[in-house]
Amino acid sequence: CGIVGYLGPRPAVPILVEGLEKLEYRGYDSAGIAVVNGGELQVEKSAGKLQVLKGRLNGNLNGARLGIGHTRWATHGRPSDVNAHPHLDCTGKFAVVHNGIIENYLELREELTTAGHRFVSETDTEVLAHLVEQFYEGDLFSAVLRMLPHLRGSYALAVASAYHPEEIVGVRQDSPLIVGLSSEETFLASDIPALLAHTRNTYILENGEVVHITTEGARVYDSRGIPRDKKVYHVDWDF
Ligand code: GLU
Repeated sequence: CGIVGYLGPRPAVPILVEGLEKLEYRGYDSAGIAVVNGGELQVEKSAGKLQVLKGRLNGNLNGARLGIGHTRWATHGRPSDVNAHPHLDCTGKFAVVHNGIIENYLELREELTTAGHRFVSETDTEVLAHLVEQFYEGDLFSAVLRMLPHLRGSYALAVASAYHPEEIVGVRQDSPLIVGLSSEETFLASDIPALLAHTRNTYILENGEVVHITTEGARVYDSRGIPRDKKVYHVDWDF
């Protein structure tokens, strides 16, 4: 299972797909990506190997400069196209990819259903997309921060939104997430091999850390939104 993300001047899709290929060794049963393109979220996802996803992409979505991608190792809900990540909220404006398990997802799902949210998958992950939408008041980073106290379990996650074509928010809690730093672009990945084609300068996120990726670069915060003095980790070894 794995997560990738990209924001920069280059077409996002090939970078995301290559990143996911580098994470294949972690094992997976489904794969998918979401990009923000012309102010809209576009998603392609499927059960099966990356080859299936690549076939479906078939050169599509190539205008996008921002995206998030996922390989899934199913824990809640069988491997299927619908259960594959990214997951969206009802409005289709927020997309989430997640590794790990949201332990209290049934409780959250019940509350969200009562509040009018409709669920389409059997995953624990889908609650995250609905929660971000529920907490959204115009600022994506704040919406993610407001969601965190409600979550129990392990998660690395990445969030993108049609309202924010130049922002990704990532969080790490008991599941790895690494930020790749470069002068004009920023990457996100579960593991260093997915970044090495692009950069050796990284932030290795610790538990509870939140990264806000914008066109200005990446800034790391604690789970209450207080900036962290994060050191760049330079990868000086080879795989
Ligand atoms: N628990 C989530 C699911 O089953 C994420 C699994 C993973 O880590 O890939 O969809």
